[in-house]
Amino acid sequence: MAESNFVDYVKIYCRSGKGGRGSVHLRREKYIPNGGPDGGDGGRGGHVILRGNRNYWTLLHLKYERHVFAEHGGNGSKNKSFGRDGADKIIEVPCGTVAYNAETGEYVCDITEHGQEVILLKGGRGGLGNWHFRTATRQAPRFAQPGEPMQEMAVILELKLLADVGLVGFPNAGKSTLLSSVSAARPKIANYPFTTLEPNLGIVSYRDGKSFVMADIPGIIEGASQGKGLGLRFLRHIERNSLLLFMVPGDATDIRKEYEILLNELKTFNPEMLDKGRVLAITKSDLLDDELIRLLEPTLPENVPHVFISSVANKGLQELKDLLWTELNKESNLLETSGKESIVHRPKSRELLQEELDELGDDDDFSYEYEEDTDEELEDYEYEDLDWDDEDKQR
Ligand code: GDP
Ligand code: MG
Repeated sequence: MAESNFVDYVKIYCRSGKGGRGSVHLRREKYIPNGGPDGGDGGRGGHVILRGNRNYWTLLHLKYERHVFAEHGGNGSKNKSFGRDGADKIIEVPCGTVAYNAETGEYVCDITEHGQEVILLKGGRGGLGNWHFRTATRQAPRFAQPGEPMQEMAVILELKLLADVGLVGFPNAGKSTLLSSVSAARPKIANYPFTTLEPNLGIVSYRDGKSFVMADIPGIIEGASQGKGLGLRFLRHIERNSLLLFMVPGDATDIRKEYEILLNELKTFNPEMLDKGRVLAITKSDLLDDELIRLLEPTLPENVPHVFISSVANKGLQELKDLLWTELNKESNLLETSGKESIVHRPKSRELLQEELDELGDDDDFSYEYEEDTDEELEDYEYEDLDWDDEDKQR
């Protein structure tokens, strides 16, 4: 099978920068008898930061990024010179990315918005130079503060695409055809165990650069929910659907009845699905003439907004998008991104974690070289570790 471009699971080894060490330096100059301590502070190590970016739809760009290391802070030096701060490393991710600790399975954070930044690993603070430690009785402190160490973590990034609209319909209702006619990009999800029921995700561009994500969710109705196949892996993409688009072909014997059967199947699958907003599309309306449509109107279910569409004849598609957009933006249908109850925020069980990593083909080979400590100006003075809890000594 061709390798999928839809990457929704990566593991990356991250490391923040360590803080630069404070300098121990005593100023000695001609004509200045007691120069005194003037060792400057070390710079902060770089953070590793996750940032939401709406221009990404998958984690493909991170697939081969096995290591992300932020820069170390520079050491302080004489004349109270500060070491420079280490550069942060920013990992850009699509909205809907959730981070887990790859060793423990613990939930770390959730990126839901464009521009949102979360510090995954903090860079070490720089150490204070010796001039901070001069006192009346200790005029030449021969020590400074070391920089704080770096932090390390293997992180799993998982994309739970914020699919806004889920398509629900029996086979041949026209779901795939609709998806391909209204969506611009069409990342396919491959490598799922139920390849025959290949789900599709589409990004539907709406007016003024707005867009929403539509997901074909064949598994719900087509039997995959009964045990094998539709695992949690796919469910994570539909969990956040806030709206379901029911699709019934216009040439069905009884549209209302078919809609009700779909509703019932959904309820069996997961009653919570019925809490979502609903829209009904009567598909293949090119097969119906206006007269027939007029006759059908009064027979349709009353408690769900409907629209007649034809993906083939491009009829009613704009109307459908308008309707979906309106429904999506209703208060009751807005996605809850902060709901702590969501499965998104649960830690992964050991078994699930192992299963996923096996599937990823994780070889746990995250070895790398530590670069040499290049503290050129490690002064000859004795050096003491100071207590980092001494916050007020920190800038
Ligand atoms: P799915 O199983 O729900 O994904 O349905 P498909 O999108 O694969 O469509 C099933 C069949 O219906 C295909 O033969 C399509 O060509 C046909 N079809 C889909 N949309 C339309 C439409 O708007 N009008 C007509 N006449 N046929 C359609
Ligand atoms: Mg299909």
